[in-house]
Formats: sequence, C-alpha cells, structure tokens
Amino acid sequence: MGRFEDTEIKFLKGIGEARAKLLASELEISDFRGLLEYYPFRYADRSRFYRIAELQGEMPMVQIKGRFVNFLTEGEGKRQRLRGIFTDGERMMEAVWFAGVKRIREMYATQTEYVMFGRPVIYAGGWQMAHPEIDRFDPANPPSGLQGIYSLTDVMRKRGLSQRVLQTAVRHLLLHPRFGEISETLPRAIVERYHFPPLAETYRSLHFPVDVALLRRARERMKFEELFYLELQILRYARKRSRALRGHVFATIGEYFNRYYSQCIPFELTGAQKRVLREIRADMRTGRQMNRLLQGDVGSGKTMVAFMSMLMSADNGFQSCLMAPTEILAGQHYETVKAWADAIGLRTALLTGSTGARARREIHDGLLDGSIHIIIGTHALLEEKVEFRNLGLAVIDEQHRFGVAQRARMWSKGSIPPHVLVMTATPIPRTLAMTLYGDLDVSVIDELPPGRKPIETWLRYDSGRMEVDRHIWRQLREGRQIYIVYPLIRENEKLDLRSLEEGLERVRQTFSGVEVSFVHGQMKPAEKDYQMQKFVEGKSRIMVATTVIEVGVNVPNATVMVIENAERFGLSQLHQLRGRVGRGADRSWCILMTKEKIAAPTRKRLNIMTQTTDGFLVSEADLKLRGPGDMEGTQQSGIAFNLRMANLATDGQIVQLARDAAEDVLAGNPVITGGTPPDGSARATALPLGDADLRILAAELSRRFAHEVDWSVIS
Ligand code: ADP
Ligand code: MG
Repeated sequence: MGRFEDTEIKFLKGIGEARAKLLASELEISDFRGLLEYYPFRYADRSRFYRIAELQGEMPMVQIKGRFVNFLTEGEGKRQRLRGIFTDGERMMEAVWFAGVKRIREMYATQTEYVMFGRPVIYAGGWQMAHPEIDRFDPANPPSGLQGIYSLTDVMRKRGLSQRVLQTAVRHLLLHPRFGEISETLPRAIVERYHFPPLAETYRSLHFPVDVALLRRARERMKFEELFYLELQILRYARKRSRALRGHVFATIGEYFNRYYSQCIPFELTGAQKRVLREIRADMRTGRQMNRLLQGDVGSGKTMVAFMSMLMSADNGFQSCLMAPTEILAGQHYETVKAWADAIGLRTALLTGSTGARARREIHDGLLDGSIHIIIGTHALLEEKVEFRNLGLAVIDEQHRFGVAQRARMWSKGSIPPHVLVMTATPIPRTLAMTLYGDLDVSVIDELPPGRKPIETWLRYDSGRMEVDRHIWRQLREGRQIYIVYPLIRENEKLDLRSLEEGLERVRQTFSGVEVSFVHGQMKPAEKDYQMQKFVEGKSRIMVATTVIEVGVNVPNATVMVIENAERFGLSQLHQLRGRVGRGADRSWCILMTKEKIAAPTRKRLNIMTQTTDGFLVSEADLKLRGPGDMEGTQQSGIAFNLRMANLATDGQIVQLARDAAEDVLAGNPVITGGTPPDGSARATALPLGDADLRILAAELSRRFAHEVDWSVIS
C-alpha cells in the first residue's frame, strides 16, 4: 500500500473518474495531498445561526435557521426565477434562484426547518440571498466553526463540481480512516521546538477550523514550513558554492588603508560606514570568496566604503574594479575615486564604451601588468579582452541593473574569483533581501552623513501648477537646477512620449530664456550623454527627462525634483528619483504632481512619500502594497517563488524564524551540505536531527525543488 497522501484522487469518496479528470485539468490536483494543499481562500462563519434582524451590510457568508413560507416562480424561459420567502420566526427575507428553478422548487418544502447559508444583500428594501446553500436542520449537527471556501473555475461550476462537492470531498478526506497515517513534512524536532500543531491537525484546522485561533496557528505552521524549506534550499546552495569557491585572503590592513584613513579622508566616517567596513574586512580575510550586498539609502556614502575596500585589496597586492550601469555614472565615480586615489598614489583608469582605441589599449596593458590599481567602468569591463594581472575585488554599483549572470562573469576573471561587493540604493527589507539574494550576505548603511537637510516632499494637483512654477522660478533665480520627470511605460509608449513632448513644450514656454536639457530612453546614447553632460556641467538649468536619470547621477546644485503623473510610479522608484536632489548643502524639494482626481488608495500611497524620507520605510510600504513580484531585482533573483501561503512582504517575522531554523539545522547536521561543518562557526542553537527527521528533510527538499538530494549517509 502506498502512502496515504499519494493516493490518486479518483479513489476519494464522492470524486470518481470524471471529477478526478476535472480536478486534474482545472486545478492540477491529482492525489490526496493535492487536495489537502488546495487551501480555502476564505472562511464562512458556521459558528452560529444569525437572526434576520441582525443582518448588516458587508457581512461574510452567514447561516440562518428557519422555514420557507411559500415559493413564487416569475418570468419565462431564460428570465425565469424562483423566489423563496423565508422566515426565522421573527422576520422575513427571501432566497432567489436564477437557474434550475424547477429542480429547486421540487427540492424544498414549506414548513420544514432548514439552515440557509449565503451572503445576505439588500434587495428592494429587504434581505436576500442569491443561490444560498440549504440544508435540512439537523439538531444532532449543531453550528460548527468556520468553513473553508475554495476558489472554483467556471468550468468546474458548469460541470457540477461545486463548492459543496469540494467541501464534502475534503471532509471525506479528513475523516478517512487512514488520515492519521499522513506523513509529517517537518522534522519532529522542529515541530516540537516551535510548538507547531502536527500535520494532520494542521490540515484539519486549515479546511474546517474550530476557531480563529486554531486557524491562525495552522496558517503559521504552513507559512513556516514553506519558508523553512525555501531558506534551507537557498542556504544549502550558498554553502555549497562558497565551499567550492575559494577566495583571495586579504590578510593585512596596510599602508594604503592606514595612510588614507589617518591623513587623507575628507570626513569622519559614519558609525554605519565603519561597521560595514568591518564586515567586509572580516569577509575578505577568511579565504572564502566574499559575496556581499551593500544596501544604503541614496547619499549614505556607499562610494567611500567601496573605495576603502579597494584600499584593502591594494594593500594585499591586488587590483580592484568598480562597475556602474551607465557611462555618466561611471564617469562620476571615476572623478570621485580618482581624486581620492591620487592622494595616496594609486593609479586609476576609466573604461567605457566610448573610450578610444588607443586609450583602451593602454588600459588593457596597464591592467595586465598591474600598473593600474583601480579600474572604473561600465559593461565594457566585462569584455573578454579585459584581463587583469590579479583582480582581487569587484564592486558593482546599483545591483538591479545587473543580473546574476553578469556577476558570474566577474568571477571568471581569474582562477580564484575576486571578492564581490554589490551596492544598491534600492533598499529592501532584510528578510526579503536574505531570500532574494540568498547567496549574498547583506550589509546595511542605515545612517546618513551628518548635516544633511531633509528633502521636503509635496503632493500637488494640476490645479496647483502655478504655485509649483513660481517655486521653480524662485529656485532658478537662486542659481539652482531643476529636474522634471515624466513616466514612460512600455505599454503606453506612444501616449507617454506625447505627454513628454507636450511637457517639454510647456516647460520651454513657461521658463523661456532658461536652457533646458531633454533626455529619454529612446534617444541615441551620444545625444543622451550630451544632454546629460550639459546639465551636469550646469550649462542647462532644467532637465526634462524620463526615469533614465533615476540611477546615481550626482548634481548637487539640483534642488527641485518635479515628478509628473506621480501616481504611475512605484514608491521605490519615486524614492530613487527623489534621491537625485538634496545632495548639496541647500534645501531641496520633491514635488509629486498628479491630476486632480486620484483614488483614495493612491493618495494614501503618495502620502507615504510626503511623510518619510527613509528609504527602508518607503520600500517596506511599497512591498506591502505591491507584493514582492513587482519589486525591482526580484526577476533576477533566480529563485522560484512558489509560495502558496506565505507572503514575503507581510510575513517578515516568519521568514526570520524560518531562516534561523534553517541555519540551526545546517549547523547541527553537516551531512546536509556534504559532510563539512558550515563556516566552522558552531551555532549555540545548532539543531542535530535523527535519521527519521533527516529523511523527512531529504524527501521534502526533493519534492519541493525537484532536486536530487544525495545524502547517501542517511539512506
Ligand atoms: P551613495 O550611497 O548614494 O552612493 P555617495 O557615496 O555618493 O552616496 O555619497 C554621497 C555624498 O556624501 C558624497 O558627496 C560623499 O562624499 C559624502 N559622504 C560620504 N560619506 C560621508 C561622511 N561620512 N561624512 C560626510 N560626507 C560623506
Ligand atoms: Mg552611489
């Protein structure tokens, strides 16, 4: 006899061949487990009988006990409907059916006590339930708890596979004599450690919860379980890779670092910068390749951290590179880093797509013979011809513009891969970062350098445009520069381009005599760079653009960021755009423009921007509103998200719990990662498992990730 949960669904009472086929084609349910894992999307209150007098608007599905007084058939043919007048003894309401009139009319009698179940709505001044579920009242079967409601497809409904049929099928399954045999999917040690209900009880509570508290515990267990296996898989993969990839050992902090730090550094590092440098230092001395994600809000000083890490690399005789997503950004980084590096005699170079042939050859030579210590550039750095004498550290700015594959290409630039530091200003909550970038360690700069003036954010409607224009004029007169950004979304390209061009026209008229730059993604790169450069150098004072300017550009003299149609941007994107101003010593403004009429949720969303400038708060709110699927970077994460119950956006605490548990399990069971203890860092909370529990882990990992799990040791 096979495992109970693997039994084909057609063998379940009330299903049979035909319905089994339907379940397979509509819901991909083929066995008992499939049905058990088809969780209700909401629950109906079966815990008590309501009185008609108690009904209110916006109620869930409720049940009412009473009798039919009489039935009325109205209309003809397709229009025919049946109304059943129902009373609970105090008041009247009606049930109404628009189909199956004849059959239903014969099914129910007057003067029999029924329980009518459905969603009450007001119709023509009275309460009505359309197509209610009706059971004969059974005194032996009193009101009971909550009942799961499943989502059905139209095809299922048409073919008679109704809510009722599904509920009954699940009930049969839960009452099956062999139901208790169902195999646990979590190690016993974990179930006990977290006091989770056992699997059989969890399924019962998910489908027919006795009360809300039990439902919550069951949901917690299932969320945990999904996340636990996800985290375990990610960590296993990361550990295996980190073992396979040896890294350079940067044993010493030497002359370059120390001299720069004591004599040249133009400011005191913030506490967060120091902490992150210590984390990087600790990584790079271990002999394991570093793969670290550095998160820090716009303006938090990531560049200096990158530079000081490069000094560690130089101190150990290695070269470093810094890769940026655009030429402009690479150029700006080059200016900054060159000034810092010159002060201590390190040689820097800039390599981009527009570097001339001769300069390029010189750079190639300098990289090969090691005379260039720090190279800054764009994707051009990834070309095959670019070879290093000994690349020790690769810094990648603005992670979301580069994919994992590109990171991997950096690794191939030497027999031992360089340490990799990925910097991003799109902060994502830690729990999400851990999961999305599971193979990366995460460092966070959560502190801005002192003395920053906060950026004021306004929300303005079209009707307030005059005021905004006046404000722009005032800033222009003070010598400041202005950004005006338009959305350009692929699906809407034509319309957007038109409004962009109209916007440009309006700006030229309103601010006549002021030099304007104009940039959008469809321009030739050379034209784009020319327009950008004009603005960077202050030759143009207003920049009308699409989000191409989102990333990294640094024009400290720009003090106003106007975002048109702000409602069409995600919060994280708005935050990135806002980060383009407030980079100098002057007061700055971010002005979100929308048309007069925006829906309340949109206004609420945009108000988050006016209330906080903290990138982490913004991205957390964004994540909650949009879900992780839309977050930047998720497409590249390479992790299949197949979560039925857990939500990375809202279940942060459970993600953390699952992560900890996965780490404890790995620490306690070296067999999982191939025999060697992870990192050599013994966790105080390591959780060693017995053979039975290890078998559960192996089975679940291979089931969930269709992955070959080869722990010959425990078989
Ligand atoms: P981001 O993290 O957005 O890349 P940058 O590295 O461009 O930020 O830093 C923003 C500005 O802050 C730069 O002008 C930089 O020189 C300055 N800065 C960085 N760290 C500090 C610090 N500890 N104190 C004062 N200014 C700093
Ligand atoms: Mg930066």
